[in-house]
Amino acid sequence: MRQFTRKVAVITGAGNGIGRCLAQALATEGAHLALADIGSEALEETVKSLPPADHLVTTHVVDVANREAVEEFTREVVAQHGAAHLIINNAGVSYAGRVTNLLYEDMEWIMNINYWGVVYGTKSFLPVLLEQGEGHIVNISSIFGLVGVPTQAAYNATKFAVRGFTEALRRELAESPIGVTCVHPGGIRTQIAERGKFAASPQSRARWIKGFDKMAKTTPEAAAANIVNGVRRNKVRVLIGRDAYMIDFFARLFPSSYERFV
Ligand code: NAD
Repeated sequence: MRQFTRKVAVITGAGNGIGRCLAQALATEGAHLALADIGSEALEETVKSLPPADHLVTTHVVDVANREAVEEFTREVVAQHGAAHLIINNAGVSYAGRVTNLLYEDMEWIMNINYWGVVYGTKSFLPVLLEQGEGHIVNISSIFGLVGVPTQAAYNATKFAVRGFTEALRRELAESPIGVTCVHPGGIRTQIAERGKFAASPQSRARWIKGFDKMAKTTPEAAAANIVNGVRRNKVRVLIGRDAYMIDFFARLFPSSYERFV
């Protein structure tokens, strides 16, 4: 997909952070937008932030962890836009804490959103793309889909799963007109950590959020621009930020001892 004018871009988690910036970037490119999020107010804020343009924007309150809701969302998009070209499965949450402290219910909560949300978004929209004979699917993993890090076991598991699912899908669709991209952002300056869950004391939570804010160097605007460019170039994998490139480098060079450098 080399240009986005009058293409229908579907973005989950479009109410904040990277999702909102993707909506802004694709609106600037002249795309029609179907924006989904679990929060309706956040979606309205995103719509207000869009540059004025001659395109159709629809908003959809969807919990991506709910398969029926995602399937209903797909039907709504096709009914309202008549097509769906670029599917960006971006909605995600964080859950930090050491394995001994992680709660099963919260591990299931994050897996249902970060992994199953991506699977539902992919499987629900893929038949539409195949029927049209064009389209592109972008699934957002993380650098934590490339390396395992203490306190991130739950999040790591979801993002490794997204990567495996997406890389296999890319190969399955290699002979088709459908592109597939897996995105691995490094630290992006959003409020994902503040919004997330933490399996430890409030003090540790505050320390972790502070650490995240210090580490997250890339703006969500830059992340969105990178993703849009990655689609344009039909890239298999998009790394975002210098931290992502460095971590990827060390993980390749020292696959069993990268923790000394990461
Ligand atoms: P964010 O918290 O700013 O935005 C995420 C959005 O997803 C929010 O609007 C939230 O309401 C929505 N959402 C959460 N649960 C949902 C659900 N069940 N159904 C629908 N929408 C839901 O986060 P972000 O930093 O913009 O993250 C976007 C994606 O990028 C996520 O998948 C995240 O894991 C990934 N990522 C972020 C970073 C980072 O440093 N910020 C790094 C790597 C990967």
